[in-house]
Amino acid sequence: MADTIIKIDLSKSPYENEKVHNRWHPDIPMAAMVKPGDDFIVECHDWTGGQIHNDDSAADVRDVDLTQVHFLSGPVGVEGAEPGDLLVVDILDIGTFEESQWGFNGFFSKQNGGGFLTEHFPEAQKSIWDFNGMFTKSRHIPGVEFAGLIHPGLIGCLPSKAMLDEWNGREKALYDTDPERVPALATLPHADTAHMGKLGGDAKARAAAEGARTVPPREHGGNCDIKDLSRGAKVYFPVYVKDGGLSVGDLHFSQGDGEITFCGAIEMAGWIHLRVNLIKDGMAKYAIKNPIFKPSPITPKYDDYLIFEGISVDEEGKQHYLDVHIAYRQAVLNAIEYLKKFGYSGAQAYSLLGCAPVQGHISGVVDIPNACATLWLPTDIFEFDIKPNADGPTSMVQGGVDLPLAKDE
Ligand code: ZN
Repeated sequence: MADTIIKIDLSKSPYENEKVHNRWHPDIPMAAMVKPGDDFIVECHDWTGGQIHNDDSAADVRDVDLTQVHFLSGPVGVEGAEPGDLLVVDILDIGTFEESQWGFNGFFSKQNGGGFLTEHFPEAQKSIWDFNGMFTKSRHIPGVEFAGLIHPGLIGCLPSKAMLDEWNGREKALYDTDPERVPALATLPHADTAHMGKLGGDAKARAAAEGARTVPPREHGGNCDIKDLSRGAKVYFPVYVKDGGLSVGDLHFSQGDGEITFCGAIEMAGWIHLRVNLIKDGMAKYAIKNPIFKPSPITPKYDDYLIFEGISVDEEGKQHYLDVHIAYRQAVLNAIEYLKKFGYSGAQAYSLLGCAPVQGHISGVVDIPNACATLWLPTDIFEFDIKPNADGPTSMVQGGVDLPLAKDE
């Protein structure tokens, strides 16, 4: 078995671990060094660092401190990596800890994080998912079980200082267009809760004040939340600093395209087994600006779907011009209304679409004025037939419990 070069202790705060960080900054020292060709294991906290618990109240989701996320393991330095290279990362395997055979999904309160459907689901709610080998099911969403498409939500290399400044500049400019907006338009640097790995003293204070938040995906990859970047995938990351500095976290047992629930997929702590190699000067050789990757040869085989269409006309009937965000929202809302006919609550259906291996497609972007997006719901994850028929919907879901809300003890 490969060496575990970053270990974590789930009983301790991630702030106590010098091989963990929660901001992007080129000054964060390497947590470990490896050579091209090496394979190694990195352990990861769940993205919130243990703020969400395996219980039946969503108070933790409602009250989560989002300035702390995401806790990443790394950066791992690769000998010989230089700006302009491509770091080739094979995701050899991903697994769970024996003592932590569960994950969580939720949606944040509109006042603290929000999400894709926050106008429809403004209160915090969560579902807990138990892992049984490669399968998962939830006591909060009856009638479904599916195989995990396990992947890191967040992986990428440290930015250069010039790139960091560009990120901070453009995101601040967007934020400033509506600084009072709830939820905010962007997440700006926030020094108070920054964890800069091994960095200490004045150097830490300086870097914490400008360290980029880990929420958005950016040129380096980062928080892309791509379900297909799963174990078995091969990823080509741009390198911006000497030694590369690869960090990873936000492991997901499963996720639907879009990670629509934002808190988040099926979130878990666990370990990831990686192998690294270099393509010298690969960014210029292949015109790489954002990462590219090859998917895994092994994926859960769901090949029958019910596909829901959505167009860029919003809930009030207002016409929008080729807006795929609105079109996908309509496809998701259509799927939720359909699932409610089988006994699910809206919250259960929303959570399920965030967790299950649901596909999202941009189906058309030229047929003015409507974009068309589709949501592909795998039919075989259900323990009953969800296809339409002449007799109408029948289901075993009736009487199921709803997702927990925040209960105050
Ligand atoms: Zn996540």
